Amino acid sequence: MKKVFFKTFGCRTNLFDTQVMIENLGEHALVSDESEADAVVINSCAVTNHSESVARNYINRVKRDFPDVKLLFTGCGAKGAGASLLKKALVDGVFSHSLKSGVASYVDRKMPFIEIGEEGGIDDTLLTRFDGKTKAFVKIQEGCDFDCSYCVIPSVRGRARSVDERLILDQINILTQRGFEEFVLTGTNIGSYGLERGTSLAALLEKIGKIGGVKRVRLGSVEPSQIDDRLLDALNAPFMAKHLHIALQHASDRVLASMNRRNRFESDCALLLRAARMGFAIGTDYIVGFPTESRDDHTTAIDRLKLLPLTHIHLFAYSPREGTKAASIKTRVDGKTIAERRMEIEEIIRAKHREFYDRQKETLTVLIESKNSGYDQFFSRVRFESDRTLLGWQNAERYRYENGEIVANV
Ligand code: SF4
Repeated sequence: MKKVFFKTFGCRTNLFDTQVMIENLGEHALVSDESEADAVVINSCAVTNHSESVARNYINRVKRDFPDVKLLFTGCGAKGAGASLLKKALVDGVFSHSLKSGVASYVDRKMPFIEIGEEGGIDDTLLTRFDGKTKAFVKIQEGCDFDCSYCVIPSVRGRARSVDERLILDQINILTQRGFEEFVLTGTNIGSYGLERGTSLAALLEKIGKIGGVKRVRLGSVEPSQIDDRLLDALNAPFMAKHLHIALQHASDRVLASMNRRNRFESDCALLLRAARMGFAIGTDYIVGFPTESRDDHTTAIDRLKLLPLTHIHLFAYSPREGTKAASIKTRVDGKTIAERRMEIEEIIRAKHREFYDRQKETLTVLIESKNSGYDQFFSRVRFESDRTLLGWQNAERYRYENGEIVANV
């Protein structure tokens, strides 16, 4: 029996994958700190160069502080960076995320080793726990058939495939019995859920809504081209969070075309205005400094972002990923310009977030995560001022917006 610590980088899909590994630990024990561990499993992210360097820094730190601990490297970075990390003896073992349910045997394996499996499988582990969280992340889908020119994910996660609906419903049922009431549905491209099985994300949501004990469901990122009338209807159900994360990536059609994106501004704008009229707070992902992004493209995008009813934004500075089409574009936007453009966009969305709450009339429903704070139905962090330690669901009827934070009284 070995003691194993998991370090997770990246998105919610990785959080779920880590839970799958925890569930498959067999006789090994889970520990909550590197200092207690015989082995550390690093579930890596490969979405940007930055995510890779954060993982490398972590590896260096663990190697320095705990030289006897075995380091196992998995996740999206395993296929691309795993071999070189192993060669440099920075890690002791590498296995691709498609092999994660075999984690117990990798912990026991004679090191060093590297094992990269075929893409194309889908998890069938039913989680009975979700460690350290008050809400549970449930992976409904894996892989992506889109071909965005900057993105390395389809090559590491494979083609789009969906988890069997029965398994998802059983999974949510089990977790509600363990006391979970909030669920986040994740995947690489969840809008494509069910397409190869003749069903859809909307149909899945309608069934999840019938499970007793489900209080709130939120979706991970959805592509604008995948949101149709039926999905909007399903999203309007009372158990759904009033927050949508719609991945736009840019607001200039010229840049969107060179990114090989399927969305364009006019239809994006119509969709977001419709969702906002339905009461949704709307977040997006946006790439700043794509190689073909000229000053004019940025100015156009700024004017257009001002028109969009956005409340949240996840800004990525473009970084070339080896093997992608965009990486071969010779031009580059310099780092200083990227930082300036980024700040400009951040400021616009921050003001919009505040305006959203200034005109908000609904009571905020918050599931406390820690230190008297948690997320409301619009996916904003709310902090309660109270001398008591609050747990579970809390309503905020009176609140104020303070330095970018929502502060509520109990
Ligand atoms: S939709 Fe585009 S950005 Fe998203 S995972 Fe697929 S290829 Fe990558």
